[in-house]
Amino acid sequence: MAETIHRDPDLWLEDGNLVIVASSTTAFRVYRGLLGRVSAVFKDTFEFTAPDPREMVEIDDCPVVRVPDSPVEMGHFLRAVFRPGAFISSQDTLPFATVAAVIRVAHKYQAQEVLAAASDRLESFLIPGPGHWIDSPALSWEDRWTLGQRQCGIAFEAQDAIEAVNLARLVDRPRMLPVALYLCCFVDPVRLRDGVARADGVVEKLSDEDFARCMRALPALAVECHATVSRSLNERGSVSPRLCSDCKKSPGLNVMLHEYLDNVMPGRICPLSDLLVRVDRRSVPVGTGWPWTKFCTACRACWLQVVGEECVKIRKRFDEFFALKDLDA
Ligand SMILES: [Zn+2]
Repeated sequence: MAETIHRDPDLWLEDGNLVIVASSTTAFRVYRGLLGRVSAVFKDTFEFTAPDPREMVEIDDCPVVRVPDSPVEMGHFLRAVFRPGAFISSQDTLPFATVAAVIRVAHKYQAQEVLAAASDRLESFLIPGPGHWIDSPALSWEDRWTLGQRQCGIAFEAQDAIEAVNLARLVDRPRMLPVALYLCCFVDPVRLRDGVARADGVVEKLSDEDFARCMRALPALAVECHATVSRSLNERGSVSPRLCSDCKKSPGLNVMLHEYLDNVMPGRICPLSDLLVRVDRRSVPVGTGWPWTKFCTACRACWLQVVGEECVKIRKRFDEFFALKDLDA
């Protein structure tokens, strides 16, 4: 049988003393002691599992442990353990699929440190902290997306969010859910419903509950795209900008608000990526000659800042839009 097994050239350590065979197809030669130190499950396997005589095969004089996992997934995990350089350095951008596979396998084999490192990397992309890419309303969405991948060392596409939601649930890190579910809303609805295939062939789908969360949030979020702007132009509201006396007289916030409601908002559905973006950086132009051109420079900057702050406030309300209760409990 052994001759049908492919040896992974990247993880065939010449002085390794254990061979892991994944899905009966791919073999990795690694160090037994180190793997046992990293993973509680492998440690128990080495210590407590009596060797099955039928399984007493050796490859290159090494004992063999067979695992049912896909070679792709197991390969990513073992590389994180035995060639951790790229994995640990935040300077290196890793594909989302790599990080996701490491999280899944490390979780299954109780490799806590590896699991924490991989989960932290994904979390850094999905959980906003100070200076986080998602709370940068003065950048266009595209610039922000590039910034986020660089900041967090992870190459992420919107459709990866489906798998990210499932990983957040798997490893019980629910604070990843609000942004992950928001990013799911960028995915074509049919694809969001049917799921996305991973490299190992498994299709990642949202649960019915999470799919419903996205469907229910979508119209509410689309409304907020305009509401962030109209709130900032409501002179009786609590968030309106402080205008100089000239701008207060003319054009004045009231006129601006009505211009927005009458001329800009009708029939203009914002793409969801515009929700968290200040109006002057949105992908859909809001028309020439419209508000900010009529304020003086200082009032324009002040108004844009107010809109930007409204965008950040909306992001902070994702728990509510996606009906995620008690995330901190
Ligand atoms: Zn002014």
